[in-house]
Amino acid sequence: MNITFIGAGAMGGLFGYFLAQSGQNVFLMDIWEDHVSAINSRGLGVEFNEKINWMDISASSDMNDIRKSDLVIIFVKSTQTEQAAVQALKCLNDDSLVLTLQNGMGNADKISQVVDPDRVIAGTTSHGATILGPGLIRHAGAGPTLIGMWSEKNNTELTNIKNVFCNAGIDTRIEDNIHLIVWKKLIINVGINAVTALTGIKNGKIIDSPPTGKLVRMVVKEACDVALAHGVKLPDDIVEQVFTIAKATGLNRSSMGQDVDHKRLTEIDAINGAIVSLAQKKGIPVPVNQTLTALVQTLQKNYK
Ligand code: NAD
Repeated sequence: MNITFIGAGAMGGLFGYFLAQSGQNVFLMDIWEDHVSAINSRGLGVEFNEKINWMDISASSDMNDIRKSDLVIIFVKSTQTEQAAVQALKCLNDDSLVLTLQNGMGNADKISQVVDPDRVIAGTTSHGATILGPGLIRHAGAGPTLIGMWSEKNNTELTNIKNVFCNAGIDTRIEDNIHLIVWKKLIINVGINAVTALTGIKNGKIIDSPPTGKLVRMVVKEACDVALAHGVKLPDDIVEQVFTIAKATGLNRSSMGQDVDHKRLTEIDAINGAIVSLAQKKGIPVPVNQTLTALVQTLQKNYK
């Protein structure tokens, strides 16, 4: 299968590595030129359990190099999704599909505004990765990858993609209700990310302190009310699931925490900010999410 990644940072690089080493024809597009030239000169290095594995993969920052692909995987940060979707369009032939496993709400909708909505696959992954430097990434954790057609129109190619992923060692399942799956991941991020980003704490500290736990409960409750107003019923124990994940990843800084630590633009607009936008559409007050969103937006606008 010809597979092009738009965005080959930590996660695009990791998935690109898995698919290339299983024999798929992978091409990485990324605007980070030092990263691309490192990959082209010595291969992409992925550190697994302190050992680096190298893989030859073609990469480019030049849109003129883009080629037609059976599958395009968008793995930019959510702030860059629209631009990436326009780039994806140039890779599509009559049967191509476009997959997003990005965090946050709104990515699949943004892609669907640019490419045929019936070709958009959305999902989540529990794999984790970090960039160590140009051409070098670290696998930070493994877990299932869940995919489904965003428009809910069946596409038989989905099974083929699942099989390609599973053959590459990416444990992948097809989900009928991918909207619920994306919402569940959103709720986890809504509960953990902004709170840890603003306070500098690691994920596990959310559980240690009663005031922090109470704040997380409030932010998650607001988000669940908004989901329900949009026709999505989250499990009754979703707050407990947030705490379980915070505990399991207790020693990690959340991705938003890492973005703030490195003074990078965060994905706040697609996480707590998405709850605020969706709440406004239904006239639901979400003061806690609104406050956290405004605080993170203020923080990232004033990095020194
Ligand atoms: P990253 O910053 O490491 O990688 C994004 C890459 O996209 C960068 O290399 C950047 O140069 C590139 N890029 C930006 N704009 C581009 C464009 N227009 N065209 C081509 N390349 C472009 O980010 P990441 O950690 O890989 O995260 C990607 C997405 O996956 C995010 O939505 C994130 O929330 C989600 N995610 C991350 C993890 C993780 O562990 N890192 C886990 C699950 C989901």
